[in-house]
Amino acid sequence: MSKNSFLIDVEKCTGCKLCIIACKDEHVGNSYAPWTQPQPDTGHFWIDVQALERGRIPRVKMSYLPLLCQHCENAPCIKVCSEGSIKTRDDGLVWIDPATCTSCGLCQDACPYGVIYLNGDLGVAQKCTGCAHRVDEGELPRCVDVCPHEAIVFGDDDGGETGEIFHPQYQTEPRVYWQGLPMPWIAGTVIDADENEVISGASITSMDLFEPESVTTNSDAFGDFWIRGMEKERKYQLEISKEGYEDFLAIVTTDGDQDMGTVVLKRAS
Ligand code: SF4
Ligand code: SF4
Ligand code: SF4
Repeated sequence: MSKNSFLIDVEKCTGCKLCIIACKDEHVGNSYAPWTQPQPDTGHFWIDVQALERGRIPRVKMSYLPLLCQHCENAPCIKVCSEGSIKTRDDGLVWIDPATCTSCGLCQDACPYGVIYLNGDLGVAQKCTGCAHRVDEGELPRCVDVCPHEAIVFGDDDGGETGEIFHPQYQTEPRVYWQGLPMPWIAGTVIDADENEVISGASITSMDLFEPESVTTNSDAFGDFWIRGMEKERKYQLEISKEGYEDFLAIVTTDGDQDMGTVVLKRAS
């Protein structure tokens, strides 16, 4: 049987949260045996949209990450369940069997993605089922079906060839793949020291000090530059040059987005 997977494109997600509403509409008050019992009215987010505010004024960007169970092949939740209640379907979807779950909470603690919830009224642990009941009827999961921007797609598992893994350090081999996960940027505004005016057309080069790679861009009409897609936790040499000015050199560590603020170039003597 072919495996299923999700592919989430962060660049397409607008944070509208329709997926959250649709998931609740599908599952609150509805039981889909054997895959799950009803989700409670409040407190559960089998899919949640994490808002990530990046940068600082004037260079700010919001990224939205729709987070659901990653349907891991090497799932810690399965390893810790002494009842054997967490299982993987033939198509790869991971589910918690409500018939045997004792709601001990170990899986909730073990899941590095924080996507398991305890249902106190029913005495079971619950999470995204991948809408297994719909998939078995040849339908798409509700969140996928409702997303107006196709930020979440679902189908045969070929995402591994093109998709990224969210938090690969967990090594859980997720069946949810990602595109456009936020990568650090280096940004700033180039200014003339004497005139206190912006410099457009300055050349900005970031050279990776670990790999033989460099990226060059130019400051725009407002003197702004913005180099996106830098590797995390790397050191870069940043060189800013413009004819008639002394070069500006700095070492930048991408332990997050790096806003250089105002970069002042001195006129060459
Ligand atoms: S419905 Fe789609 S665009 Fe809206 S928050 Fe969910 S994933 Fe993002
Ligand atoms: S994301 Fe968490 S709950 Fe889902 S399969 Fe992986 S470890 Fe289990
Ligand atoms: S696949 Fe179904 S259960 Fe999972 S988050 Fe989407 S709507 Fe909710």
